[in-house]
Amino acid sequence: MNFADLGLSEELLKAVEEAGYTEPTPIQAEAIPAVLMMKDLIGIAQTGTGKTASFVLPMIDVMASGRRRALMPRSLILEPTRELAAQVAENFEKYGKNHDLKMTLLIGGVQMGDQLKALNEGVDVLIATPGRLMDLFERGKILLSGCELLVIDEADRMLDMGFIPDIEFICEKLPENRQTMLFSATMPPVIKKLADKFLTNPKQIEVSRAASTNENITAFKINVEQRKKRETLEWLLNNDHVETAIVFSNKKTMVRQLNKDLQRSGFKSGEIHGDIDQNTRQKELARFKSGDINILVASDVAARGLDIKGVSHVFNFDTPWHPDDYVHRIGRTGRAGAKGRAFTFVTKADAEAIDNVEKLTKSKIDVFGKKDVRVELKEAPAKSENSRKPSKPRQSDDREDAGDKPKKPRKAREEKPEEAAAPAKPRKEKPAKAAKSEPRKKRSREDDEPVAPGEWNGPQPGFLGVGFD
Ligand code: ADP
Ligand code: MG
Repeated sequence: MNFADLGLSEELLKAVEEAGYTEPTPIQAEAIPAVLMMKDLIGIAQTGTGKTASFVLPMIDVMASGRRRALMPRSLILEPTRELAAQVAENFEKYGKNHDLKMTLLIGGVQMGDQLKALNEGVDVLIATPGRLMDLFERGKILLSGCELLVIDEADRMLDMGFIPDIEFICEKLPENRQTMLFSATMPPVIKKLADKFLTNPKQIEVSRAASTNENITAFKINVEQRKKRETLEWLLNNDHVETAIVFSNKKTMVRQLNKDLQRSGFKSGEIHGDIDQNTRQKELARFKSGDINILVASDVAARGLDIKGVSHVFNFDTPWHPDDYVHRIGRTGRAGAKGRAFTFVTKADAEAIDNVEKLTKSKIDVFGKKDVRVELKEAPAKSENSRKPSKPRQSDDREDAGDKPKKPRKAREEKPEEAAAPAKPRKEKPAKAAKSEPRKKRSREDDEPVAPGEWNGPQPGFLGVGFD
């Protein structure tokens, strides 16, 4: 399948080529011809599968003819967060550079002046978050009656953020004979209802099972006590060949604290969460994208849908409360065909949450074990052959998690992850997968090469091989 087979204009094909895409992704291959035929569309595909271009590309051609009018945008793309809206706008600029289209970004947290001015001059494509759009609409600064095309992007996230009533309100203000597209990674009943109400005879494209995770991502869970999480994270950041990582926490306060702690430990980290103003968020993102910092500590709201090239790792410092968030979080890595690794820290209190994740994704997450470690582990100086107990006290502390049961012999513990793990794919595939991950900065070695001695000189970390009951 080729982009040229999809019916896009020459100008667009050129822009696509310059963007470096050779082949449309499955959702693009199916969605683009349908959008060009002015059909309503429901597109369900996991994160990182190229949904943005699947509507941005054909929209540019659809919008290419027609006339702009003051205050009356000709098309509207709704995004749940400012970052996502800004990202879609970047896509528009990239693909639309050979077209004379006016695009305006309507997001909160920035001055309204320029946005109002642009609206007055006439806009072909308006990209907005529901809040700011409602605000301007209620003040009579914008008319939606000339809007022939509507995209509701990241619909499941809109639901999480409580935007469904706003979207219904907005849909009602648009002309009835418009073209509507809805994209989502998952399709909970509320979204289905929304689609039934506001889409007309839509073509439904479902590229893979909803809420499934990406096969380019190798995911692990680690059983760890709350107070050992930071130490465990730092060990992984130092030893798992991390190039760039996003660390998710469930709480804004923890995001802040963790970022501080990581910086204090000498990591180049930054933070984004809902309490940070828009300008600072964008700056942090830019620093992350440019490689100025390589670790971004984030909350779900701020990070949803972010498309950052070459994120090698995602860490769930906290197991997400909502299983959908798990899919979205780990979808920040393994994007556009690159490989990634995702680690989820699980405390005893998270038993139900991780269970829900595994139910949603319909697969057991492997327990991170010794075989998955990417550096050579050395046992702590052993006293004798059969007394191989590591000397650091934290070793035994970590295992308290397993309960008050008498300590099992070491051998048994090593096997435990195997029991708990899914019967999934053969393990030996993993190093090969991970080795292909997109290099961002220096890449020290291929993963399946033997590890140079001296890389990791400490004892093996205590969290390894702690099983799940
Ligand atoms: P989604 O909205 O499905 O989560 P995005 O639209 O953000 O995914 O795209 C994910 C990544 O894939 C982006 O970096 C994008 O540039 C890249 N991408 C999109 N389409 C293609 C393609 N046809 N070939 C290669 N990379 C692509
Ligand atoms: Mg998207």
